[in-house]
Amino acid sequence: MQLKESDEDGFGIEIVLQQGDRKAPSCVHGPTLLFEKVCKGEEKGRRFYACSACRDRKECNFFQWEDDKVSEARLLAREEENRSKMPPFTHQEYCSRFRKFLALPLGRRFCQDCQLLLLPGEWEIHASHKMSQADDITEARLSRPSLMLKPLENKKSNAQYLFADRSCHFLLDTLAKLGYRKVLCVGTPRLHELIKLRNQEGKSDPMKSLLLDIDFRYAQFYGTDEFCHYNMFNHHFFGGEAASGVLRAFLDEEDGEKVIMVSDPPFGGLVKPLAHSFSQISETWRKLQTSEGGVVEMPIVWIFPYFFEPRILECFPSFTMLDYQVDYDNHPLYKHGKTGRKQSPVRLFTNLTPRDVVLPREEGYRYSFSSFLSPLFFQDGRVWKHCSECQKCVKPSWRHCQSCARCALPDHPCGNSPGLEGCFNCGSLKHKRRACPLKDKRRTDNKHFYIKDSSRVLPRKRNAGNRQTVEALSVPSGIVVGSRCVSSVWLLNNCKR
Ligand code: SAH
Ligand code: ZN
Ligand code: ZN
Repeated sequence: MQLKESDEDGFGIEIVLQQGDRKAPSCVHGPTLLFEKVCKGEEKGRRFYACSACRDRKECNFFQWEDDKVSEARLLAREEENRSKMPPFTHQEYCSRFRKFLALPLGRRFCQDCQLLLLPGEWEIHASHKMSQADDITEARLSRPSLMLKPLENKKSNAQYLFADRSCHFLLDTLAKLGYRKVLCVGTPRLHELIKLRNQEGKSDPMKSLLLDIDFRYAQFYGTDEFCHYNMFNHHFFGGEAASGVLRAFLDEEDGEKVIMVSDPPFGGLVKPLAHSFSQISETWRKLQTSEGGVVEMPIVWIFPYFFEPRILECFPSFTMLDYQVDYDNHPLYKHGKTGRKQSPVRLFTNLTPRDVVLPREEGYRYSFSSFLSPLFFQDGRVWKHCSECQKCVKPSWRHCQSCARCALPDHPCGNSPGLEGCFNCGSLKHKRRACPLKDKRRTDNKHFYIKDSSRVLPRKRNAGNRQTVEALSVPSGIVVGSRCVSSVWLLNNCKR
């Protein structure tokens, strides 16, 4: 069953985030989520538990109606099944294997089929598998597990899209400049890796990083204080209390090192459970805060496609969507500029101050800070056009009238009142905006104004989720946006929600 957060066509599946102690049954991915199948006209739908992490039933077929009575035998069988699907080694075992692996005098082998660093005693059983040999397994390579491991490919749940270098460096530079010294990497193995690499280079102030990811293959490369096998859809630590203790210790800023969380969840993921988990992380952080009256929210950067903006803001009203386009190495579509077929729709959602995030000019951003403005779009894709004679942007239906020396509707009463500006709302010269009969309507319509993403162009039809209030931006007047010029006053007059 395909699970969506909601569906406007009559029926949909909604998530019921449970409060209290009611315990959800577990699949191999930890506690399941409670969903409700709702049909139009029906007040209450039937509820069921399904896997939190996998949208694809082929991957995890857990299903249980909320009111099902499950026999003791069935529960035991389920527990046994869950155990059998767990990783072959514990994290401690992976760590001790890694130490042995590094100490091997000759012949390091990595089984590409099993995605496993092999110890000599295991070579034989993997003999018929595809193997990387010693020359390929240098120290440098081992410090870049995201290059060694084959990215997971399941489209529906956990396809891994790895940051292009430029995006990863931009992110890390930004965090470093803002003074963060600890980065909680939730589903961002490449960022975690880059932090460690930079520390090794020793050119910049060292930063700490903790990776939380469901991909346990990373346990082969990182210690228990650097990686936790974690499910971000149900805030489940596979390593139990010990692992959640690692997170708590990491979030503690007692040593004065500021912490920030960066997450790049799979795009098919459900927003509400993600937000719920991030809130739990944030709450853990908040409880550890000692300074009174300081920042109340944990700094978070949530990387997600822009069309999720309304859903993310519903969960985190303090967040802003920044203009930065996140690029990926292995995404067939979402790559930067000329190399990608399409421009990436992936953005940063954050509670950082947008102005503090300085966009890189070398990547083609024309403005120095984020959350900027661009031409305004109606929902149907019509764009406000610039009139060079009036030196401002006007509605697409308006024409510049030489006799009135201004733009107006083509059938306006021409030359009626020279010098009279008329109504800035509907273009009529008979009244001012204050008295415009369409003023309130226009206000409502203004909800449909969309500010296109700033300096790089997105496909228009996809713009629907891309609304930003101009009030939130502080815009110097007369800014040139593409070939159009808008003044802050004009924007404020026209773009209020
Ligand atoms: N751009 C990132 C990778 C993002 S891909 C980078 O380059 O570092 C999504 C990541 O989330 C993957 O690492 C994947 O393993 C992880 N992931 C997928 N489902 C998850 C889940 N349920 N819980 C935790 N991590 C998950
Ligand atoms: Zn599952
Ligand atoms: Zn193998």
